[in-house]
Amino acid sequence: MSDSCTHIVPVHTGDYPDAEAKAREILAWFQDRGMVAAEPSDCTLDGPGYAFTAKIQALFIEPMDPRVHDGTTRGLALHAGERKVFHPMEGAELSFVCPGCGHDQGWDGVDVIGAWFADEEDEPACPACGERFHINRYGTDRGGTDTPWAFSNLGITLWNDHGGAFQPAFLDSMRALYGTDIRVVEVHV
Ligand SMILES: [Zn+2]
Repeated sequence: MSDSCTHIVPVHTGDYPDAEAKAREILAWFQDRGMVAAEPSDCTLDGPGYAFTAKIQALFIEPMDPRVHDGTTRGLALHAGERKVFHPMEGAELSFVCPGCGHDQGWDGVDVIGAWFADEEDEPACPACGERFHINRYGTDRGGTDTPWAFSNLGITLWNDHGGAFQPAFLDSMRALYGTDIRVVEVHV
């Protein structure tokens, strides 16, 4: 079974304030519900994480394939601190569409993303119309048909959840915890 993961990332401008404390709060949300282990272990492909229990099933609409519980790479990873680009996969297509004029700069958007990552420019100008917009306002999901990219110094990653669509109530809980809208970025590695 190949590995996959899902990032859930807040949508905001600037840097998310006190990201480490928020990550701890989100971890506590999962632990209070018995969905992840109390202590970290080597259960993700991105450093230590908190292994899922069978209760993680409650996050999903459809029942899980029981075989997913056999894997060792299954757990919750938390990212807080440095800015991070949460993207669908290596070699993924990139559309980067101006919210003002609709111009798609495609892979040229990588330079814009690099400048955001380096803390140099959060509100790049569109090369077509010259208007400036925050990086989060550029469209990366081809009008909703593709997986969006997300940009934050905070995010959580569910490794090999293999559960299909999330319960809307879970996504509402994540929005409430972050206090922002969210982006869900599905990754197949
Ligand atoms: Zn434009």
